[in-house]
Amino acid sequence: MNIDQLLNELRREGIRDERVLDAIASIPRELFVPEAQQPYAYENRALPIDCGQTISQPYIVALMSEALKLQGDESVLEIGTGCGYQAAVLSRLAGRVTTIERWEELSQQAQKRLTELEIDNVTFLVGDGSVELSTEERFDAIIVTAAAPALPDAYRKQLKDPGRIIIPIGEESTQSLMLYQLKNGEWKTTHLGGCRFVKLIGKNAWQPFAD
Ligand code: SAM
Repeated sequence: MNIDQLLNELRREGIRDERVLDAIASIPRELFVPEAQQPYAYENRALPIDCGQTISQPYIVALMSEALKLQGDESVLEIGTGCGYQAAVLSRLAGRVTTIERWEELSQQAQKRLTELEIDNVTFLVGDGSVELSTEERFDAIIVTAAAPALPDAYRKQLKDPGRIIIPIGEESTQSLMLYQLKNGEWKTTHLGGCRFVKLIGKNAWQPFAD
């Protein structure tokens, strides 16, 4: 598959937001995977990366990005930088992106890739993204790209009103992609479909010994 075939497949699967499709078209996914995976970079599936982690499936990246309904000037927090692909896509859709990863090695690799692509609106943090950040900053949107057993309280506290959180929630083997919308102090919850992510490992998620 090439990028045009992938974009057509994303359209067929229901992705309608042209800003999201343009963002995906502008980020070379092959730069975000190990060399052995590069022939498969435009296939619509997750692929293995270093540290036993994965680059998310393009459809899921598109679906999660679309669900955030970004206009271009928002601040977004991403939990689970991984290879940096989702952060790169978000950098085209929002004003500023902060992304946190528990593996320093992955964070450094991601930072190098985004620097090469001259993306300068992404801040990289290393640590446990299941707990509240040490900064007072509140975000317009929070996207969690690893699966949690439940919504960590930290995310509700770090969200502006209005704001949106998207997160896979469920068991280790299969989860529901959940959208939490906050408006005028009221929360609305929407189930966006099934998915399968690697685990969110941290104080308010799965415990490290089960990694
Ligand atoms: N966003 C990535 C992309 O662009 O393809 C996909 C992320 S990968 C599916 C999930 C990442 O979450 C892994 O790199 C994993 O190490 C990271 N992770 C797991 N638990 C974490 C935590 N508590 N804090 C930060 N990152 C975490």
